[in-house]
Amino acid sequence: MVSYSDLVKKQREFYLSGGTLDLAGRKKRIETFKKLLIENKKAIDDAIYNDIRRHASVMSDVDYTLAEVELTLKNMDEWLKPRKFETPKDAQYDPSSDELHLVQEPLGVVLIISPWNAPLICSSALIQAFAAGNTVILKPSELDPTYAPLIAKIVPKYFDEKEFAVVEGGVPETAELLKERFDHIIYTGCPPVAKIIMSAAAKYLTPVTLELGGKNPVFVDESADLSVLAKGVVGAKIFNAGQACICTDYILCTPAMKPKVIDALKTGFDALGDMSKVPANARIVNDRHFKRVQGLLKDTKGKVVYKAGGETDEKDRFLPLHLVEVDSPDDVLMQEEVFGPVLPIMTVPSFDAALNHIKRNEKPLAAYIFTEDAEQTRRFVRETSSGGVTVNGSCAHMAGGLPFGGVGNSGMGRLMGRYAFDMLSHEKPICVRNKLKANFAL
Ligand code: NAD
Repeated sequence: MVSYSDLVKKQREFYLSGGTLDLAGRKKRIETFKKLLIENKKAIDDAIYNDIRRHASVMSDVDYTLAEVELTLKNMDEWLKPRKFETPKDAQYDPSSDELHLVQEPLGVVLIISPWNAPLICSSALIQAFAAGNTVILKPSELDPTYAPLIAKIVPKYFDEKEFAVVEGGVPETAELLKERFDHIIYTGCPPVAKIIMSAAAKYLTPVTLELGGKNPVFVDESADLSVLAKGVVGAKIFNAGQACICTDYILCTPAMKPKVIDALKTGFDALGDMSKVPANARIVNDRHFKRVQGLLKDTKGKVVYKAGGETDEKDRFLPLHLVEVDSPDDVLMQEEVFGPVLPIMTVPSFDAALNHIKRNEKPLAAYIFTEDAEQTRRFVRETSSGGVTVNGSCAHMAGGLPFGGVGNSGMGRLMGRYAFDMLSHEKPICVRNKLKANFAL
């Protein structure tokens, strides 16, 4: 492997030479990535299983990524078409001699720093970086000790490093890499590290996309269908053992609702059976995170009201689901992103108090409400700010081709299809004068 500086130089030269411009080349890179995914699906699934014990082919793994590939191949001709605009008749323009166009141009070299909990989640950015005509350097997380070396080994078999390269390493390597000049950086992870990334990017005024997390609230309204609540919340909490950026982090409800909510959740928890015996039920990723989640349980002033899914097994990094009654917004479980199988529940006097709590804390990546009341739903969506909302469920807004991303402390920029394509492109307005007829198609 060449040095980071030589690698970036090589990719930038390829971009500057026009190597990434033509449409056929862009499609070929996406097709090649598709081939890589198909031919190595088992190895990738096994690596993710080995690192986090998550079942293959669920959200953010190979099948999900292939869907983004297909969507892009189907639509990129359209996305890349130069658009012609009507020339206004005013003092500045003459419609008989002037033409207005908008054309897409690539940015250059894109750095993607991906997280361990969903290593393929950044593939939307990767595919759209290719569609938009950029080169990519991917830095997978060192906390995926099987996946990171696997992807680093596979990629050079399919791609020349001038168009796509993988750089392995942890904090020191990432810090070195960030000394280089990139044309866009996409980082997925936590806010404190995002600040380091953004400071490094500032040196070259490099734009950043930050896909972060946060404390995703769940408000249970008095009108909620509680059987729906149990399914929605418990399902999200067991996916990846709660280690998902859009996981249901904590529950708010009124005192009158609390016993009913707890009962409904207990029923949902009980339906799981002994999760410690389910081999593909994700474990906590490493000892540090296991101790961190155990630390939250130790430091909380709250009371564990229910535990389900098996017995704690430190060697296997298995923690059962814990439901914890919490009294104060200052409790550690209401302050830190849980990122594990622990679910705090806190009462608020009213729906307005819940809105107030959500509004006055950092903007989360996702917000959830369980209700049968359309007006409460409207107010929840209008009066709180978050990356996205699912009503009577969880995580479901991260689908259907809608943009995915945070706001405020939960991030900036948008992944998925056209939204990520636009983010990794520069849309350039052109005015051609003097009756010249120009064609900007690729
Ligand atoms: P992390 O921030 O520790 O690591 C992510 C990447 O950053 C890794 O590649 C790592 O090597 C690098 N990194 C870590 N420390 C660094 C430093 N000091 N300097 C330079 N690079 C550094 O990720 P994490 O905290 O383990 O991930 C969990 C967080 O990610 C949660 O907050 C979760 O909500 C969030 N997340 C968000 C999304 C999303 O799409 N929004 C997806 C997954 C995870």
